[in-house]
Amino acid sequence: MTDTLQEAPTAVKPINHWIGGMAVAGKSGRSGPVFNPATGRQTGEVDFASAGEVGEAVAAAKAAFPAWRSTSLSRRAEILFRVRELFHQHREDIAGFLTAEHGKVRSDALGEVARGLEIVEFACGIPHLLKGGYTEQASTGIDVYSIRQPLGVVGGITPFNFPAMVPMWMFGPAIACGNTFVLKPSEKDPSASIFLAQLMHDAGVPDGVFNVVHGDKVAVDTLLAHPDVAAISFVGSTPVAKYIYTTASANGKRCQALAGAKNHMVVLPDADIDMAADAAVSAGYGSAGERCMAISMIVAVGHAAEPLIEAITERIPKIKVGAGDEPGVEMGPLITREHRDRVASYIENAPAEGAKVLVDGREQANGEGFFLNPTLIDETKPGMKCYDDEIFGPVLGVTRVDTYDEALKLVNESPFGNGTAIFTRDGGVARQFQFDAQAGMVGVNVPIPVPVAYYSFGGWKNSLFGDLHIYGPEGISFYTRGKVVTSRWPDPATSQVDLGFPQTR
Ligand code: NAD
Repeated sequence: MTDTLQEAPTAVKPINHWIGGMAVAGKSGRSGPVFNPATGRQTGEVDFASAGEVGEAVAAAKAAFPAWRSTSLSRRAEILFRVRELFHQHREDIAGFLTAEHGKVRSDALGEVARGLEIVEFACGIPHLLKGGYTEQASTGIDVYSIRQPLGVVGGITPFNFPAMVPMWMFGPAIACGNTFVLKPSEKDPSASIFLAQLMHDAGVPDGVFNVVHGDKVAVDTLLAHPDVAAISFVGSTPVAKYIYTTASANGKRCQALAGAKNHMVVLPDADIDMAADAAVSAGYGSAGERCMAISMIVAVGHAAEPLIEAITERIPKIKVGAGDEPGVEMGPLITREHRDRVASYIENAPAEGAKVLVDGREQANGEGFFLNPTLIDETKPGMKCYDDEIFGPVLGVTRVDTYDEALKLVNESPFGNGTAIFTRDGGVARQFQFDAQAGMVGVNVPIPVPVAYYSFGGWKNSLFGDLHIYGPEGISFYTRGKVVTSRWPDPATSQVDLGFPQTR
């Protein structure tokens, strides 16, 4: 653990909005603190936008839309390729912001940037992605074709746990399709979004095409109600996602709201136990468990339980916890002191619920940073808060069942349906699991099955509100509207008055 007490105080930097191609200082008089979670010290003060300031960003995006949607696809692709190059060139700098404000370790931060970049790379193929269909001679002399057109101004509201990747999931495809964008990033780690805005500006993205407003519910509610915002993409917790979806929909906006999770990893008795233990530890404690695709619940079937728990318990003390910028550190702190205390409260209450804390991460956590070490809780069951709730910290629960059917039942009875995984050597059972599991993303011996950029990401049940998943082909559908054109060119030979309903012949 880092000894933070000796460090010199750091300056508190102001973090401004980005509107119409430039940084704009907040005028609302409201702001919020940004911390370095590894030291517990405040490093930034982020402006909170008023309704009027959000309105300015929407107005800038609205003004930029006609020219941007008219910009040729090859030109848009060319600009996106430059965005990709600049993001790639500055990946270490972007990762630096993530470690400084989110706390994730360097390798994890670089991984986040790389996975976000994949979406921007996908978006570079926009000329191909927007190809429509064409039917010649649908009727005599009549051709029919489909096109997809952008929506207009799109709002994106993002969570703290992926301050670079999740915004890229949204704005990459959205602006490629010809929309203009207003991002409201998490107020807990907002600096990366401003750096990305600066890089996009340098890459030639026209002013107003990409804007960032910081803030809280005031900024979000303004976007949800604004008549000039056509669609909202949201990623965050389930209660807020539900609110965003219902409010945006009631206001006539298209909305996709990706939400919380409690991902179960089923381990069958025939699984490679070492591989399963490595996967559980990596997916449970990576990024301190602050991933919506983290494994948070292990469902150990039959005699898999004892050796698996033993293998995980052996691995936990070897995990190096500390400040994310220290070489060799594998797990960083949690995002805030309040969140660390909330996660710790689940460990505190678990024994009274009937669960057994095998490894207690509170015992090692000290210093001023928001640290909590890896924790393992056995004998958890539905009905216990440590089983039911999304804890969003380095806490792995274990539940033991006798059969595959019982394991599947637990997966399918969960109110969440983001990701799930099965560990087995039996291809037939794995295939059955893939068929039966009620979740949007399934891993077979893969613990974090985040889809590659050319598929789409999204959960089921309380993990997604809306119809379309994010990025990939569904992202392109979300950010465009379909239009079908039926066309005939004047041909005196076929022209006649006909008051009947048009038929194809
Ligand atoms: P959060 O819901 O607290 O915040 C998300 C965004 O909503 C932030 O920008 C925040 O400012 C805003 N917000 C918060 N409360 C609001 C309110 N009452 N009204 C309007 N806006 C509000 O989520 P978080 O703590 O930043 O992120 C963690 C959560 O995100 C976890 O639940 C995690 O599972 C989820 N998540 C889901 C996915 C996914 O793809 N399904 C991906 C990443 C994170």
